[in-house]
Amino acid sequence: MQVVIFLYFYIFTRSTTQGCINKLSQTPCFKEYFMIKKILVANRGEIAIRVMRSCREMGIESVAVFSDADRTSMHVRYADEAYNIGAAPSNESYLVIDNIIEAAKRSGATAIHPGYGFLSENAEFSDRCKKEGLIFIGPSSYAIDTMGDKITARKKMQSANVPVVPGTTEPITDLKEAVEVIKGIGLPVMIKASAGGGGKGMRLVMKEEDIVSAVTSAKSEAMAAFSNDAVYIEKYIESPHHIEFQIVADNHGNCVHLFERECSVQRRHQKVVEETPSPIMTEKVREEMGKHAVAAAKAVNYSGAGTIEFIVDDNLNYYFLEMNTRLQVEHPITERVVGVDLVKTQINIANNLPLDFKQEDLKQKGHAIEVRIYAEDPDNNFMPNPGKIEHMTEPLGLGVRHDGYVYPGYEIPIYYDPMISKLIVWALTRKEAIDRLKRALYAYKITGIKTTIPFLNRILDVPDFVEGKYNTHFIQDNEEYLVPSGESPQRVQDMATIAAFVDYRKNLERFKEQRLCKPNVGNWKAFGRKRNVTRL
Ligand code: ADP
Ligand code: ADP
Ligand code: MG
Repeated sequence: MQVVIFLYFYIFTRSTTQGCINKLSQTPCFKEYFMIKKILVANRGEIAIRVMRSCREMGIESVAVFSDADRTSMHVRYADEAYNIGAAPSNESYLVIDNIIEAAKRSGATAIHPGYGFLSENAEFSDRCKKEGLIFIGPSSYAIDTMGDKITARKKMQSANVPVVPGTTEPITDLKEAVEVIKGIGLPVMIKASAGGGGKGMRLVMKEEDIVSAVTSAKSEAMAAFSNDAVYIEKYIESPHHIEFQIVADNHGNCVHLFERECSVQRRHQKVVEETPSPIMTEKVREEMGKHAVAAAKAVNYSGAGTIEFIVDDNLNYYFLEMNTRLQVEHPITERVVGVDLVKTQINIANNLPLDFKQEDLKQKGHAIEVRIYAEDPDNNFMPNPGKIEHMTEPLGLGVRHDGYVYPGYEIPIYYDPMISKLIVWALTRKEAIDRLKRALYAYKITGIKTTIPFLNRILDVPDFVEGKYNTHFIQDNEEYLVPSGESPQRVQDMATIAAFVDYRKNLERFKEQRLCKPNVGNWKAFGRKRNVTRL
């Protein structure tokens, strides 16, 4: 009895204290006091700059952290302050919680934005921030933990009546038993790592005799990548579409979705092109999926921005795949079509403010497409191609957004993800958006390194893409055209354009030298070390 009374009072006082803080933080005189004024961005590259842009618009100071390999990185120059957090390998810098917390303390930042990748889905980091009195701009460690483990998430979704892919909800412990279970579900199946992410630890099994080797190799890949070898079984969805819903939830019980993103153009389970609206979506299914996405987020008391990924078959049956409890790489297409700044929304939620829009206020307008540009050689099996950027012309013009971080003279480090930028276009119709993307890709010139731009150009010419009739097999099905072994006419033309451009730039440099105009080389080293950098 005493325990019950104690618990009652504990819960009551806790909830009223939280309620009081929430209410207090809304009153005009305290509002200003509680607001975040300085944010440390625990990331690098394009996403660090993306977050800092919103900070600047909101009058919030931004703090960059950088590894030894990133002294000359653009995010360091863009921030108001920058702190070195260790050696080049990410497990000695961007993944070291202690170093990031120390940088936050030294800078006086009161909040940390984790971006995507690195520590963004690390529950320990979210908890540690809270313990240190810092605001983690993201969900609670409970939400991260529950959704971060695919098996736990599947169970949670089942209890919230969100459809999940048929399969198991326990890790495979016995190979013989696994064979029996798979026979019951029916081939083909996917063996998936419970801790999986970035397409790792996943195996497709078509034939019974391949089950044992698939489970064994999925387990060892999962162990190497995530230090956790739990794998489970999912029915393989034929002709699958990857369609995800953006959701945002505040700390006042409001949760809405910002519609879908079609991400079926994938290479090795990694997204290459994303668009919204999805060419296969209907109004009815959109509404139903949106409701399920909101239910999924509510099931873990979600706070902040997140993404519910679904796998969808040709008949528009859809199943929960996973939730990404962070800002997504492809978030800009949603921002463009719905007109909401998702980073600003995340910061407002972290400031304990209620959402300033309701579900019925949100509409999709026009069409947006994003392509991810990698420093990889598409004509040589997508070999990473880091190196020094010689010349670069970014695409500009109506309806074009370019979120990048590299610049002429910058040497791409070998230590991190080879994605160098995201090109996002918007137009009133899908057809116009594709034409605009082609125009923007044509104008995008980089020399010194190989990029996936020619490969992206080829994707936009494939009739199935143009007609919006594609699923996750798209790249594989069109491999002969998309990944030609020899020199394609398109590539020859691209190379000729680049050669002409390089020639033009060389002439320009010569012209400048003759007129004694010194090019502005910038003082990158100083920017890397200096505090209170205000340039850019
Ligand atoms: P999105 O759905 O936003 O494309 P991805 O799965 O491609 O997300 O992951 C975004 C970034 O996070 C990528 O750089 C990827 O390499 C990294 N990433 C994703 N999951 C993990 C993980 N479990 N561990 C480490 N990095 C990860
Ligand atoms: P990750 O955490 O690595 O992103 P996901 O579970 O999101 O893993 O799956 C990544 C991709 O793998 C999906 O977008 C889809 O293309 C494919 N995939 C995953 N599960 C299935 C399945 N059951 N059937 C068919 N394809 C799947
Ligand atoms: Mg995924």
